[in-house]
This record gives sequence, C-alpha cells and structure tokens, in this order.
Amino acid sequence: MDNVIGFIGLGIMGLPMAGNLLKAGYSVVGYDLVSEKMAQLVSQGALAGTSLRDVSARAQLIITMLPDSPDVEKAYLGEDGVLAGVKAGPLLIDMSTISPVVAVKIAAEARKRGCPMLDAPVSGGETGAIQATLSIMVGGPAEVFERAEPVLKVLGKPVLCGASGAGQTVKACNQIQVALNLIGMAEALVLGQKAGVDPAIVLAVLSGGYAQTRVMDVRGPRVIHRDFAPGFRSRLHFKDLNIIRETARAFGCSLPASSLAHELFGSMQANGWGDLDHSAVIKVIELLSNVEVRSGAPN
Ligand code: NAD
Repeated sequence: MDNVIGFIGLGIMGLPMAGNLLKAGYSVVGYDLVSEKMAQLVSQGALAGTSLRDVSARAQLIITMLPDSPDVEKAYLGEDGVLAGVKAGPLLIDMSTISPVVAVKIAAEARKRGCPMLDAPVSGGETGAIQATLSIMVGGPAEVFERAEPVLKVLGKPVLCGASGAGQTVKACNQIQVALNLIGMAEALVLGQKAGVDPAIVLAVLSGGYAQTRVMDVRGPRVIHRDFAPGFRSRLHFKDLNIIRETARAFGCSLPASSLAHELFGSMQANGWGDLDHSAVIKVIELLSNVEVRSGAPN
C-alpha cells in the first residue's frame, strides 16, 4: 500500500486531484513553486514539501501534474529534481500532458534509478479533476499499472494503453480529434452565418444527425453566444499540437489536418487569445471571412 503520496504541481488540475487523494484517506505531501497553492492544500490536511528532493525522500508514490515537457523533464532529471532525491525507489506517475518521446526518456532514466514509472495523462478538464471522473490514459508495465491502479481509481477511470509512452500517445490522439472537431464546427457556423442562417439552427440540425459530436454539443451553445471563458485554455491546446507535430515527426507520420490546426491555434496566440477557451479558434476562421457568428443576428 502506497500510503504517503507526493503531489507536485498544484494548479487547476493538480489541486483538486490532490484534494481527492486526501479525502480518500492518503497522506499527501504537496509541492508547488507557488506558495499560496501549497497553503490551499495544507488547509485541507496535506503536509507541505520543501523541495522536489524533499518530496521524493518522503513519499512512496509521487504524482506530477506540471504544464509541459521541459517542466516535467526538469522536475525529474534536474540537478535538484525528484530522481536526485530518491531513497527507497518510489513509484512515479506523471499525469501532465507531455511528449510521448520525452515520457519514454524520463521513464528509462527512472528505471535506472530503481523507480518504476507510468505516464498517465488525463482528459476531462477541471470538472473531471474536481469530480474525480477523469479519463486516465496510462503507459507502462502491467505490474506497475496494477500497483498504481487503486490510487488512480480515486481520481477517475484508468485504462492501460500499452508500454511506456502509450498513455501520452493516446492523449495526443485525443487532442487531434478535439482540435479538428472545434475547427469543423467553426467552419460550419461561419458558412451558415455568412449565408444568412441563424447559428442556433445550424447547431440544432447538426446535433440531430450524423454530424453530431460531443465537442459541438458542449461548446457550440457557448460559442454562438460569444462565451469563450476557459474551460481549456487555447495556449495549452497549442502546446499539445506542438507535441503532436513532434511525435508525428519522431514516428515518420504525416498529419496534414493537425498541421493546419497547429497554424490556426498558433494564430490565436499571435492575436492574444491564449487564455480564451480553445473553442475561440472560431475567431480565426471568422477573420478569414470577415464575419462574426452570433445567435439571433444573421448577416
Ligand atoms: P496549471 O498551469 O494550472 O498548473 C501547473 C502548476 O505547476 C502550477 O501551479 C505551477 O506553479 C506548478 N509548477 C510548475 N513548475 C513546477 C515545478 N518545477 N515544481 C513545482 N510546481 C511547479 O496547469 P493545469 O491546467 O493544472 O494543467 C496541468 C497539466 O494537465 C498540463 O500538462 C495540461 O495540458 C494538462 N491538462 C489540463 C487540463 C485542463 O483542463 N486544465 C485538462 C487535461 C489535461
């Protein structure tokens, strides 16, 4: 039983996830660069870690929930990182969304230091993190997955996808599908608007037929009322599209539609829309046709 869990990265996702582990009865040693985030977790009953090395010396299982590949690489392999501080070979689970290639590299280094490691990125957003209903995509050896499963089940629904890196690969697949769904919805709404059809009608009809997608059902009604509050910030999806490009290159894979998505999400960053929800990609498509999609106001 892995009773003491180190939790590194207490942001939008990490804080509620660590809170759910506390509620399930685990001892949690939390750590974040931002002291207010640590204080929030400590107020729920966690212990405060003083550094990455401190966490790795105190915990039998360590979870990281950090922004991007370089953050995770540094947290594990850096001079003062988790692996520099390991004592009794804790089980390591990285739940951040990072490059599968980097995930494989870190897991191999961890194995050399006697630490089994899983990549376990998630889908389901802040709501899934709070409600402990995350879809968890896991890569690594089956016996390590079995050991981690009770802890992961506290956070959501874990699925073993394959060897090390496979969890990150499936997450990249997920992010392709979501980005292209958002772009498809945006183009459909822009065409309808420009041709004089109320976007609410377009959504209602598409939702009732073969074109229906969950992305459209969840985001469409907000988009046509110009509600772009995040959800999932477009800059994080842009990061994921960079991961998809690097991964495609590493495996000799040509993904033309993902490359287009990368350009459109890149344009969102250039226009200062990085902190809007990723569904705001419609703003780029609108610019190209000089139109704004808005329910009740057909052009
Ligand atoms: P966030 O920016 O809110 O949180 C990241 C936290 O990590 C911050 O509190 C930051 O201070 C901390 N941090 C950074 N470097 C650190 C270090 N070296 N040591 C300790 N703490 C450090 O990000 P988030 O939204 O919680 O996302 C985390 C990961 O989960 C990302 O990879 C993201 O793509 C993925 N994800 C996010 C969502 C979502 O809806 N937000 C959904 C699925 C997956």
